[in-house]
Amino acid sequence: MQQNLPLVSSAPLFKKTVLVRVDFNVTVDDANNIREASKIIENIPTIDYISKQQTKVILFSHRSTIKKAGKKIKPSFRPLLTQIEKIIKKRIRLLDPRDLNKAKRAIDSGKNQLFLFDNTRLHPGEETSDTRYAKDLARLGDVFVYDAFASYRPEATTVGIPRFLPTYIGFTMDKEITMLSSIFKNPRRPLVAIIGGAKTEVKVGIVRKFLSFADTVVLGGSVANTFLRAWGIDLGASLVDAEMVSVARELLWLALHSRVALELPHDFMVSHYKERTAPKAVHHLEIGRSYAAFDIGPETQKRYRSIVHQAGTVVWNGPMGLYEKAEFQGGTLALLDAIATARAKKIIGGGDTITALPDIKRKNIDHISTGGGAMLVFLESGTTAPIEAIRKYAKRMSNV
Ligand code: ADP
Ligand code: MG
Repeated sequence: MQQNLPLVSSAPLFKKTVLVRVDFNVTVDDANNIREASKIIENIPTIDYISKQQTKVILFSHRSTIKKAGKKIKPSFRPLLTQIEKIIKKRIRLLDPRDLNKAKRAIDSGKNQLFLFDNTRLHPGEETSDTRYAKDLARLGDVFVYDAFASYRPEATTVGIPRFLPTYIGFTMDKEITMLSSIFKNPRRPLVAIIGGAKTEVKVGIVRKFLSFADTVVLGGSVANTFLRAWGIDLGASLVDAEMVSVARELLWLALHSRVALELPHDFMVSHYKERTAPKAVHHLEIGRSYAAFDIGPETQKRYRSIVHQAGTVVWNGPMGLYEKAEFQGGTLALLDAIATARAKKIIGGGDTITALPDIKRKNIDHISTGGGAMLVFLESGTTAPIEAIRKYAKRMSNV
């Protein structure tokens, strides 16, 4: 039992048809090769546990909508199916979420044990969280298991189905909630929160939260640029989120009046924004008009390393620079190395942060969250929309 959320191990599953919300929304390359499979791998223990009880298992997952030439494309799971089968070591039959009658016949035919509904967003009722659609889906099974921490938006297969079926959380959900909650439950101090990346708008909330709870808040990436701009520093052609400068200024003010140390980069790796000259390290006051800061500099790397090595707990979300380019990976990889070799409890997350993480470093991290946005929302508010739905309807069920 996790925060009043019933765990799958307490669910009556024997010979049942079990609906399972997983998150197979992995990043793929142009040839549809899965680049990073950890989300799928994380769901295996729950799928295996349910499969062992003579069940029929019906998986649901969305895939992110892609914009191509101004058009919205909702990609299918079909080109990934063989790869997914290999990863989970099971045969899967694909179902169409737009034809539930046909899906039901396939499920009832008794030939298969494991099914996957194609991209749930192919049905218009998914994103509008249509009640009727959720009810129709719920009719296909006896029990619902939610194991998609990263899928935190309110949709039919996230917040809709728990209204109509007994709902349990899976092992990944349990682990995410336990590990992420542990940051705020008596953490080993100093607690160091490192926030980087480019989506300043979605990161300022977590910066604010940690300014009232952590011991040190460390900034990098374009998020740090925006804070330095708010401080009045000329960042030349660096990526700054102009709309977030006033929020950053307010948070700098907050930091000044709190006991929390806010750390900003002292130096940067810069290059001419157009000609992309060879990177050079400069002090943050000497970036130059046509130059852009694409990574933290060596002095900052050293400082961040020492902060991480003195920490009791480290939480990290967002790369330190433009890590997709080899010449600007240095800061992110140096931070990763500092975290991997630190004695602290280490928790990291974020889509790009995980992509930048080489396999060999993974075993030195205590928890790698499958959630990017979901991790931020959970850390900020202590919950997500699906968790709230499960809690609400689980309580109602235990009251009858
Ligand atoms: P995450 O997915 O880990 O939460 P974000 O999506 O917020 O991280 O940000 C990742 C992106 O930020 C990457 O594409 C990276 O290149 C970019 N980025 C980080 N620092 C800089 C910088 N100084 N200049 C330009 N882009 C940056
Ligand atoms: Mg990202």
